[in-house]
Amino acid sequence: MNAILRAPAGVKTTCPYCGVGCGIIATPDGRGGAAIAGDPEHPANFGALCVKGSALGETLGVEKRLLHPMIDRQRTTWRRALDRIAAEFTKTIAEHGPDSVALYLSGQLLTEDYYVANKLMKGYVGSANCDTNSRLCMASSVAGHRRAFGSDTVPGCYADLDCADLIVLVGSNTAWCHPVLFQRMQKSRDQRGARIVNIDPRRTATTQGADLHLAIKPGMDGVLFSWVLVCLAAAGKFNWDFIAQHTTGLEQALAEARKIAPDLASVASATGLSADDISTFADWFCATPRTVTCYSQGVNQSAQGTDKVNAILNCHLATSRIGREGCGPLSLTGQPNAMGGREVGGLSNQLAAHMGFSPVEVDRVQRFWNAPRMATREGLKAVDLFDAVAQGRIKALWILHTNPAVSLPRADLVRGGLARLDFLAISEATQHVDGLLDRAHVVLPASPWGEKNGTVTNSERRISRQRAFLNPAGEAKPDWWAIVQVARRMGFAQGFPYQSAAEIFREHAALSAFENAGTRDFDIGGLSGLTDEEFDELAPVQWPRPARSDGASRFFAHGGFFTPDRKARFIAIAPPALREATSKTMPFVLNTGRVRDHWHTMSRTGLSPRLSSHIREPFVEIHPDDAGPLALAHGDYAQVRTGHAVATLRVVLSPGQQRGMLFAPIHWNDMTSGGGRVGALASGWTDPVSGQPETKATPARISRCNMQSFGFVLARTRLDLPRWLAHARFAAAGGEGIVFASACKPSELHSLLSNYLPNEGSRANVTDDALQMHRVLMTKRQRIETLLFIGPDRDEPALEFALAHFGAAALDANARRTLLAGQAGGGIDLGPVICACNGIRAAVIQTVIAAGALDLSAIGAACKAGTSCGSCKPELKAMLAAG
Ligand code: SF4
Repeated sequence: MNAILRAPAGVKTTCPYCGVGCGIIATPDGRGGAAIAGDPEHPANFGALCVKGSALGETLGVEKRLLHPMIDRQRTTWRRALDRIAAEFTKTIAEHGPDSVALYLSGQLLTEDYYVANKLMKGYVGSANCDTNSRLCMASSVAGHRRAFGSDTVPGCYADLDCADLIVLVGSNTAWCHPVLFQRMQKSRDQRGARIVNIDPRRTATTQGADLHLAIKPGMDGVLFSWVLVCLAAAGKFNWDFIAQHTTGLEQALAEARKIAPDLASVASATGLSADDISTFADWFCATPRTVTCYSQGVNQSAQGTDKVNAILNCHLATSRIGREGCGPLSLTGQPNAMGGREVGGLSNQLAAHMGFSPVEVDRVQRFWNAPRMATREGLKAVDLFDAVAQGRIKALWILHTNPAVSLPRADLVRGGLARLDFLAISEATQHVDGLLDRAHVVLPASPWGEKNGTVTNSERRISRQRAFLNPAGEAKPDWWAIVQVARRMGFAQGFPYQSAAEIFREHAALSAFENAGTRDFDIGGLSGLTDEEFDELAPVQWPRPARSDGASRFFAHGGFFTPDRKARFIAIAPPALREATSKTMPFVLNTGRVRDHWHTMSRTGLSPRLSSHIREPFVEIHPDDAGPLALAHGDYAQVRTGHAVATLRVVLSPGQQRGMLFAPIHWNDMTSGGGRVGALASGWTDPVSGQPETKATPARISRCNMQSFGFVLARTRLDLPRWLAHARFAAAGGEGIVFASACKPSELHSLLSNYLPNEGSRANVTDDALQMHRVLMTKRQRIETLLFIGPDRDEPALEFALAHFGAAALDANARRTLLAGQAGGGIDLGPVICACNGIRAAVIQTVIAAGALDLSAIGAACKAGTSCGSCKPELKAMLAAG
């Protein structure tokens, strides 16, 4: 059990989910939990939190934690586990060279963890085979920035959203993936009349808050922004002074843009957009000096992601809409510390402190680190790295806080490849790392959010402290500590003397300033002298530090790019085209993404009943006109097959889905579902510059599954159901639930699943052959222990009724009768939970609207929906619009 670290005062820390980087005040309750509130003083969120952040307190339990080191699946001591990692790495390097080992890191790591991992690999092992899952998230933004600016610089900041007159959201479901920023944009729209344009093949929750939705064909963003560049030129909107003084390459980039987007009709044909919509967007862009273009995974996760980024940057450079108040490109990072990882060289093609692998930079870092064996060239990027694992070229691997066997494209190949390793170590906080735990030779229990100390950097270059507010559970330790211990055991004690995260941060800050003198963007030298106490008290701070001589918190308003001639580069992009075409056998384009209330592989959000109530199952969205000929109805199950894998997903008919496209969320894996692992479907073609894989355009086909049985099981402890059963697991108050469907008849399924039920408590079985209904209820001291429902149809009301009684301390006689033989829930389906904070379902909101509620405040006043974190407001708006 965790204990209070600092009570009763709240501890200021940072949310561990998305790149918005919201400040949080966590107040431990003394029982291992904590009350969570937004930090009103944090400049990223000013007290606001989305539903994921608000529910963090529900994710702090130790039940599913890894609490002890293990070797070969047996509990061991830290000393033995660290000895083994160091010995295996040392032996492998001696036998096969430095490039035969690798580290694979995560945007969940703190900057200090990242720093020592990179120092170990790139300065002491002598290999840059040290990459991060941020490669899957924003490597194309990094590459685009570096090509245009000479550095990986995000020029603007969130405050620009408050004064922009046009906000363009490209490839970003901001409403669900960066909700607090989206609320900020909505405020600017409501109060100042800022326009919002949403460029996305799908109509999403974000579209509800937009003035214009451009449902672009996948992969065609480069055509659209080439056209904008052409229009800006024609409209005389170029800032020729800025272009002449601070840029090069416009002529070629514009010539190429004119070839890609020669006229409106060609652009309409290529993008699938109407000429009117394209013209409206181009006109708005041309006429609005204060324009911010935010872009996210729809741009980055592409085999042409870097070109897409540069097509956007070209438009901002040409108009000098960069580094000035209310305008600029703004890459929205997915992960909480993707930016911090970039700062220390977490990507295999970067060295520390935003330096690369030029001889001068390698020499500089080598001298600063006094490194004995510097890597002198870039290492393998994530997809290539795991190909090298599968080919046996990487022989020893240490994975920290991420699961490539789920999240990388072609995840089945990755999973198979891991079996070829001579040695695999993992650092993890949770036991539920599908496909890794059983393959790892050494498992280290890592401190998760709430127990660790250090810094993270958000999408606007703001460094914030993540602070521990709970004592470590079990034997969990910080990652920086484990890496330092291994480095010392490998003989590098001199380079790894650190006793605290603060000490590492000081060195990281000092390196950023080392021989810098304004030549590199990333400079936080002003923080290198922080005492331990000052580090502990550090308030959120935007880099560079010290602030620039002109006092500006933005970059590039007056040039000063970080190329050799200090001029930005316009980039002539390649003609946009999807890397892999659809075919007769694979006629759909599969797009992947996220849902509102879950994060990555759900290892944390999957612990919260509240977050699990919004969407419980993996699903595939398809346009109704595509579904009809395939006999797919809303709520059916379907198999989605690509050239790499197959998944079984619930069908959601969505007119907002583009014809010819499918959308499926990435969150489920083999531990949380049967057949819902979508990462295995993606093709993984990589961008030639950034190495970021294409995960949003894989050719696929879809076919209906003929399910005959449906049901659910609620249990106090984890029940493992057979893999052949389509199912999805979700958190329920007091235990967990599983919903399932099968092609077997209910009676067959009942006898098959009975073998998987525990045999405890008093057991009651009811079978109604006429209704094909099978129910099993196990109770102990009048409390439900296990409950199984099987029938010929889905029965959502019964599930809700059962969940309400599963959460109760005792089951009364009436409820028991209903659960066993009655129509539980009265057969009335109230629909999904829309407002997760207040548990308000769709039917309730629809009733309120039907009774005359005309806006969000009327809905809130009538039923409380939308009155807490506000994450559901876009869905409420959609319901209002639908009447
Ligand atoms: Fe966390 Fe939500 Fe803020 Fe993102 S927007 S940092 S998930 S509270």
